[in-house]
This record gives sequence, C-alpha cells and structure tokens, in this order.
Amino acid sequence: MRWENLRDDVTSQSMLPIEVVAPTPDRGSGRAGLGTPAAAPIASDDGEPIAIEIRARSIINRVPGESRVPFRWTINPYRGCGHACRYCFARQTHTYLDLDAGHDFDSKIMVKVNAGALVRRELTDPRWAGEPIAMGTNTDPYQRAEGRYRLMREIVAALRDAANPFSILTKGTLILRDLGLIADAARRAAVSIAVSVGCTDEALWRAVEPGAPSPRRRLEVIERFAAAGIEGSVLMAPILPGLSDDDEHIDRTIATIAAAGARSVTPLPLHLRPGAREWYRDWLRAEHPDLLPLYGRLYGRGSYAPAHYQRDVIARVQGAARRYGLGPVGPATSRRLPAQRSTPL
Ligand code: SF4
Repeated sequence: MRWENLRDDVTSQSMLPIEVVAPTPDRGSGRAGLGTPAAAPIASDDGEPIAIEIRARSIINRVPGESRVPFRWTINPYRGCGHACRYCFARQTHTYLDLDAGHDFDSKIMVKVNAGALVRRELTDPRWAGEPIAMGTNTDPYQRAEGRYRLMREIVAALRDAANPFSILTKGTLILRDLGLIADAARRAAVSIAVSVGCTDEALWRAVEPGAPSPRRRLEVIERFAAAGIEGSVLMAPILPGLSDDDEHIDRTIATIAAAGARSVTPLPLHLRPGAREWYRDWLRAEHPDLLPLYGRLYGRGSYAPAHYQRDVIARVQGAARRYGLGPVGPATSRRLPAQRSTPL
C-alpha cells in the first residue's frame, strides 16, 4: 500500500502526504464494527472492516477551479465509507492507496484522527477568510466510524467557535447526536444540512446502500432538525435508471420528502465515474441483467447520462414537487466533476 503522495480528496488535485499512526485506545464509544489493522501491509479485499488511523497534514481543502461544484472549501475527515453505496463516486480514491474501489472502499476506512485539532488551527490562520466549508462532499462524515471517533463533534465545535459558515450532507442518522451543537453553530453563522435520499424503496435501499440507514430514518433527521428550527434539504440522489426513475417511485419519494418538512429538494440522476462504474455494473449484471442495454445506451459514452434523459427526470421530479407543495427544486448538476476516461459499460 502506498502511503505517500496520496490524493486527499476527489475534488482536490493536490497530492497530500499523510502519516499512519498507531491505533488509539478505545475512546469509550465502542469500535463501530471496525477492527484495527494488523502489521502492514494491509491486505486488500480480505473483507475485514478496519479503521486505519492517519495523521493529515492539512484538513481544509480547496476545490480545484475546474470543478463545477457550488462550494470552494471542503473538509473530509474519513476516506472510504462503510455506507457501501454501490454507485459511490468516491470509490476510485481508494485505488490511490493500492486498495480496491470495491469492498476495500467499504471496509478499509482511513480516519484522520487529528482532524479536529487541524480545523481549529487552520481557522485561526490569518490567511483564512472565513468562507463557507462543505462537508460530506466526498465521503460521509457521519458514517459508522464517526460513532467511535467523534471527529465531527470536534470539527463542528471548532467551526461554531470561529462562527464559520458550513454545510453538511449525509446519509448518517448519527448527525442527530450533534443536533444541539449544530443548532448552536447556526445561531452564530449560516449553517445548512441536507440528507441524500434517492428513493424510499426499501428493497432498493438494501440492495444499493447496504451500510446506510434506511431512507425513512434519514428523513427523520430532516424532521428532527426542523423541529429544532433548522430546515434541512434533500439531495434526491442518485435517481437510478430503470430502478427508481419511473413516475411511481418519484411520486412516492417526493411525497415522503415533503411530509418530512424538507425545505427543498435537488434531484440528481445517477452518474457513474470510474471505480463506481465497474462496481455498479457488476451488481447490475448479477441482479438486473435486463437493464444492461439501457445502461449501455445511457452511460456507454461517459460518466453522465445524456442531457435529454436528465432533463426528463428532473422535469418529472419538479412536477411531483409542485403537486406536494415542495420547493424550490434546486439545480441538478451540482456535483459535476472534471471528466475522466471511462471503461465501457
Ligand atoms: S454515503 Fe456517500 S460517501 Fe458513503 S458510500 Fe454512500 S455515496 Fe459514498
């Protein structure tokens, strides 16, 4: 496994060296289902869930100029994600570590144990201008490992103390642990939270997001935050061709999102970047081989479905949102990233 010249963030072109540290003793919050690695080298694809503790050199990352994402700065305390979504666009980042983009991404979780201290230090740097910081842009900050490491508590506390605006996108109901802290921060600076729910079909959730809390529990996060005076948004992503892009799925999902009290919904049809592309295709081939021709037509030429398909899906989501009095419906291409070479689907 390479431990040098590691790319810290899929949205960052900089290669940041990181340092592996000895595992910390139990922090009193359990192991979150994660073991500690045996002596190096860490075995790839052995299926063993482990936390690999690392010491990052810096934590607030600048998004490269060519990225068409609506934020300039990010914090990502974890690499890899136990939520194990089949389609996760961050999968490829694990290959920079000589781990694979499949099971290793789901089970070999890099934990930046000094994230909280780094955030405090970087926020007080005289060159820092107090710009908004987005979290949950690469891997999920409230994934299971956070139950043990509590890095987000330290990060949110540092942002609150600096009155620095921030946003959090997650599928993790663990964010409710920090509701009071986030509400406190929201009294001092602009804070927004969002959960991602592509659809509310339970069978589909178990198949494509096997490590994530159920969509209904994610929407309870929106309800709880709304009750605390913080209206949350929903990233309706990804909408899966042939699986959740029909009117019935869209209608049911929008109805549930509206009932949860979401402020807005942003639909985003599936995109399949390298890494996710192969992992998702293997699942599709095993579970829905009849859909392979459709996916070949939509993703045969690249990571993004054709514009006409995206326009159609988004228009139908907008129609459903109007029917349920939900709005505004945001733009749909917020996470478009620089193009990469794609393998055939
Ligand atoms: S929750 Fe987000 S970061 Fe985690 S696996 Fe799913 S898509 Fe990837």
